Amino acid sequence: MSVTPDIDHANALAGRAMDRMAAYGVPPTPRNFEIWYAHISLAEPELALALEKVFAGGGAWSEDVASDLHGRFFGVSDPAPLLSAGASLTAEIDTILRTVNQAGQQTASYGQALDVVTGQMDRGLDAPMLKAVVHQLTAATRSMRARTEALQAQLNQSSHEVAALRQAVETIRREAQTDALTGLANRKHFDDRLAAASREAVDANEDMCVVIGDVDHFKTFNDTWGHQTGDQVLRLVANCFTENVKGRDTAARYGGEEFVLILPATSLANARILAEQIRRVVQTKKVIKRSSGETLGSITISLGVALLHHGEDPVETVRRADACLYTAKRAGRNMVVTEDQVDVQAILKSVNAA
Ligand code: GH3
Ligand code: MG
Ligand code: MG
Repeated sequence: MSVTPDIDHANALAGRAMDRMAAYGVPPTPRNFEIWYAHISLAEPELALALEKVFAGGGAWSEDVASDLHGRFFGVSDPAPLLSAGASLTAEIDTILRTVNQAGQQTASYGQALDVVTGQMDRGLDAPMLKAVVHQLTAATRSMRARTEALQAQLNQSSHEVAALRQAVETIRREAQTDALTGLANRKHFDDRLAAASREAVDANEDMCVVIGDVDHFKTFNDTWGHQTGDQVLRLVANCFTENVKGRDTAARYGGEEFVLILPATSLANARILAEQIRRVVQTKKVIKRSSGETLGSITISLGVALLHHGEDPVETVRRADACLYTAKRAGRNMVVTEDQVDVQAILKSVNAA
């Protein structure tokens, strides 16, 4: 997201953002401010909805909430490693260019030395002169070899540094796509994958399904056992998703206690089977409180499943999967609902009207 209003307008927006943050008890840290400024200035429906969800039912702002929203709507939260890798890479490229330049100059001066010798030879040489020329030639060659070896060593060193930097950039790229708590793909990566997967499905004339899962009564779980145990549950549920997908499938944390799957080349019936399998696996897991070893019983999830209609924006598929999830919740939770089981449009209309 980028915002470039003029200074008066920006001041007014900043003031409103600060007022709203104060009203909701949100500390004015740079990260929080970035979220609220974007909310005030961009009027993004998705961000507005996410903020609304945070405070619905008496919820409060926390570091986790800020981190989750920032990850979802702003991508990489800490640009420092990326900037530092970029600066190192630029410095290394400078060194390589300088080295190559130097190599060029040295080759040219060696060429000149050879020219001088060739000129002397053309003029005819007696034995002492020949000896002097050979001596000159040997000296120039030796010095050229020494410089070449030094340059070679410098280039080797640079090539190692570039390989290490490439690795660092790859790590940063992976981290920027990953949800820190669960290790699943984050919301940003999910959005990118969804767009790509839906294009691929249309091109290959294949089915593609989206599954959304949400932990049942998670607020109560958190309130009863604490946020840390709640986080442990999120990791456990995330593992149930990753362990049951394969190949081109993408499992992501959609936000909070919601998870999503993109299933390329999968029919609605098969997506339902997979969602059912995940639901059952989650239900059979026993949650054990790490600090005390106490068994806290089991948890359940509800899931909604929708099929991409070729030609539609895949965001619509996600909306229908969400409407199915909503139906599963209303029907008692711990179940899978697929879009062929319900009147999705009627549900979407009633949710939007509410
Ligand atoms: P439902 O069955 O209808 O889904 O009820 P619910 O309580 O799961 O749903 P609700 O949306 O009311 O509450 C979601 C809760 O998830 C609220 C919030 O405290 C918790 N939550 C969101 N993100 C995190 C997180 O990163 N860690 C932990 N521990 N809790 C989180
Ligand atoms: Mg939820
Ligand atoms: Mg829930």
